[in-house]
Amino acid sequence: MSFIADFHIHSPYSRATSKDLCFETLYQWATLKGVSLIGTGDFTHPAWLVEIKEKLIPDGKGLFKLRDENIPSLNIKLPCDNLTPIRFMITCEISNIYKYKGKTRKVHNLICMPDFDSAARFANKLNLIGNIRSDGRPILGLDSRDLLEILLETSEEAVLVPAHIWTPWFSVLGSKSGFDSIEECYRDLSEHIFALETGLSSDPAMNWMVSKLDGYTLISNSDAHSAPRIGREANLFDCEMSYNAIMNALRHGSKKGFVGTLEFFPQEGKYHFDGHRKCDVCLSPEQSKRYNGICPSCGKPLTLGVMYRVVELADYAMGRKPTAALSYKSIVSLDKIVAEIVGSGSASKKVQREYHRLLGSLGAELSILLSLPLDSIQKYASSILVEAIRRVRNGRVHASPGFDGQYGSIQVFTEKERNDYSGQTTFFPLQEKEEDDTLAKKEMKVSFIEESDAPKLDFEATKEKHQQSQRLNEAQKEAVKSPFGPLLVIAGPGTGKTRTLVERIIWLINEKSVLPQTILAVTFSNRAAREMAGRIEAVLAREGVQERPEITTFHKLGLKIVIENHSEFELKEQPVVLSENDMAYLFSRIAKQTKDSGNVSDSSCLEKRIIDFIEKSGDCIAVPEDIYRQIDDVFGHYTEYKRKHGLIDFIDLLVLPLSLLTNNQEILAQYRQQWQHIFVDEYQDVNALQY
Ligand SMILES: [Zn+2]
Ligand SMILES: [Zn+2]
Repeated sequence: MSFIADFHIHSPYSRATSKDLCFETLYQWATLKGVSLIGTGDFTHPAWLVEIKEKLIPDGKGLFKLRDENIPSLNIKLPCDNLTPIRFMITCEISNIYKYKGKTRKVHNLICMPDFDSAARFANKLNLIGNIRSDGRPILGLDSRDLLEILLETSEEAVLVPAHIWTPWFSVLGSKSGFDSIEECYRDLSEHIFALETGLSSDPAMNWMVSKLDGYTLISNSDAHSAPRIGREANLFDCEMSYNAIMNALRHGSKKGFVGTLEFFPQEGKYHFDGHRKCDVCLSPEQSKRYNGICPSCGKPLTLGVMYRVVELADYAMGRKPTAALSYKSIVSLDKIVAEIVGSGSASKKVQREYHRLLGSLGAELSILLSLPLDSIQKYASSILVEAIRRVRNGRVHASPGFDGQYGSIQVFTEKERNDYSGQTTFFPLQEKEEDDTLAKKEMKVSFIEESDAPKLDFEATKEKHQQSQRLNEAQKEAVKSPFGPLLVIAGPGTGKTRTLVERIIWLINEKSVLPQTILAVTFSNRAAREMAGRIEAVLAREGVQERPEITTFHKLGLKIVIENHSEFELKEQPVVLSENDMAYLFSRIAKQTKDSGNVSDSSCLEKRIIDFIEKSGDCIAVPEDIYRQIDDVFGHYTEYKRKHGLIDFIDLLVLPLSLLTNNQEILAQYRQQWQHIFVDEYQDVNALQY
């Protein structure tokens, strides 16, 4: 049986937890999320243990089910019933704070119990050692090794898993008060440790850098402090749903039915990178090392994050995958995806309404995120949401890492991408997928209404342009008529930069007798190019000017240069340009052939990485193939494939001309001669490649 399990959660008796946590809400959320097995959390707390015994009954397989009379009705009716029953496992977390070899150690340990009786005996033993009443996650002055000993004496089947092993303050390998190895912490009893919880700030790929962890099964849990958070990290099993089968799977991995984990993007965790929250300084481990661990802003030691600690203990670089390693999937919760698209907080009514509607139409959240075919999702969801889910499944997100206690953020879209999408379609689903040209018509209609100054008829446009020219303010006039040479117009959106640009081009042609064909204007979107061309056309037609300036987008300009110089690139006269979709597909196929996981590198970050590379090295001299290969060998293979088949993608449209113009002075001089006046609309958005 295949199911999803989340062992580590907390009760309302732990600090900073939601007060409405109870077995009914846990059951409801487990159903909505698609999690079939949940830890009870906090079983050592006497009041919570009473509730556990009241509401749960043994299922005869070491797990527990909610009494029938306590099974809540759902506030959302899912389209299909969950096929797997919902079960609970008795679990808790202990915070061990103690001195070992002259150092204060603080380690969190996750405990799993097979029955009520063992749980109660274990709690009684801890009650003699410290206070288990004041906190659902009790703090005990007890060595982790001794805790494990007490556990094993209580029940042979009981299991201890070191919790969130990399967090700086409270974990077995943490930088502040942990150890350098699992063995150093649990000593003679280390052989009883077989699984490790990776925590929110690290994912399996990071742990694979440390070969001494190879023998352990890496698990992931939500550590939820409220019911809607369960399953945000979780484990996938394909085995009998019983306590022993599950522990056997955790001991022996894939052979016994442990499939892998669901993960946060680790950058989202609060301690992924290093830095100072106060100083707004966030550094990668390499950067911190360069600063000798000292904050460049305030001069005090940096808070070193999880990545730093992993690198410190690592004997391999990122990208290594041990032979026994299992796969994992990085996820972003559905309410966060919806929130990003809608543009309001994930707790807002708007987002919650849409989240509930999606679950009501499509079923449990994790199945929407992980497995439901995109075609099926498309029936009930907007295309931007479908695209978002596709990107998350392919690991194509924009991450800014958390540091010094501040959560990082994961964005599926850049602001520009989101705006482009919301210009095309409404958030709410189209009943039937509309034909592309209908959409295009819609878009045109919208722009027509919104921007009354867009060209309509030549006559009208001319009249309007005339008025507009009169409406230019002093600063704009100055920009229009400033001397030749580099000129950068900096202004916020809507302040008429594009208009200023158009006016300057017209002024150059009319007043300064500049030949139109020596002018090149580059924009970001086809729409902006069309609009600009329309405005200029109206004026030049009226003036009887025959020639036209070249008004184009970055990519069209790139294509023009590539076609004009196709032999330089060993391409056919009309090379095939891959769409973004083709590119993503081809790339993931090659990534799969190159490595066993297509998750490691992805086409979406390709452009960004090339840009980073160029910005960092300031080197545009290298031929593009070299740039690709230096970045990643999947990129190398992908590029080879493209070259062999005469394909180019939209990044080539920028990279190829760039390398040509940097390497070939003759051609550069030719283009310089051709275009003596170059204008760039929305210059603030230009990246290193386009520049
Ligand atoms: Zn903890
Ligand atoms: Zn500082």
